[in-house]
Amino acid sequence: MRQRGGMHILLTNDDGIQAPGLWALYDRFRQDFDVTVIAPDRERSAVGHAITLHQPLRSQSLTLEGNRHGVAVNGTPADCVRLGLAEILEGRPDLVVSGINPGANVGVNLNYSGTVAAAKEAALCGLPALAVSIHGHDGLFYTEGARFAFHLALRILDRGLPRGTFLNLNMPNCPLEQTAGVQVSRQGRLAGTERFERRLDPRDRPYYWSGIDLLHCDGTPEVDGTALQDNFITITPVKCDMTDYDFLEALKQWEWEPTGDSRVACASPWPEAQQPQEGGTP
Ligand code: MN
Repeated sequence: MRQRGGMHILLTNDDGIQAPGLWALYDRFRQDFDVTVIAPDRERSAVGHAITLHQPLRSQSLTLEGNRHGVAVNGTPADCVRLGLAEILEGRPDLVVSGINPGANVGVNLNYSGTVAAAKEAALCGLPALAVSIHGHDGLFYTEGARFAFHLALRILDRGLPRGTFLNLNMPNCPLEQTAGVQVSRQGRLAGTERFERRLDPRDRPYYWSGIDLLHCDGTPEVDGTALQDNFITITPVKCDMTDYDFLEALKQWEWEPTGDSRVACASPWPEAQQPQEGGTP
């Protein structure tokens, strides 16, 4: 194990600099590390990997109750990591941790999550990174979540991660001793389960609420959402490289006309209707 002294951790989140999950991480990590908090100045959940291009970014140093220091940025989670690395931090951190998010980030939700995007941005910059979420919304066991996140951070600092890969950690909402254990899982693929709640406004026009919390699991045992449902702490390694290497070679075999003229008659745009299924290749 490397010496912990001198290690520098960057903490961020997508719930805003006031969010309790962020400060639970801070309270645990600052016992052993140098910690810098750079987080959005307000909640930016589900903004994905958005960055701010058409308005200026501003940063403001804050001191919160309990001698907690942080920097608030009027941008997205990915902005916080980018601006932090480029301008705010002195030197590169040894690890970036994002969270703790209230609500699981599993399955297809990894595509929408600001928590996950902050870790992904760090991984794109060549840094080891960890996204942390707890499955639940009220009465969350943040201190327990921070305790396990710290444990996992020590492993990452000791063993390293492949460049361009980060870890996505999801915790059941209970004391660590009451979990079913740790399961290394893959990301679930089940899509199309999102529900909208339809309501009527005072003029009887419909409007819709999205964001109903679903785990996106169908019982496939090695999938993140299923493991979490079964009360496991679940850890998924996620790659930034979105290339489909299985299909890459097949795509090269397609007949290409550089002029864009197509001599290949197509009966139908798709060979068959394909439905993504858990366990199969979508
Ligand atoms: Mn959030």
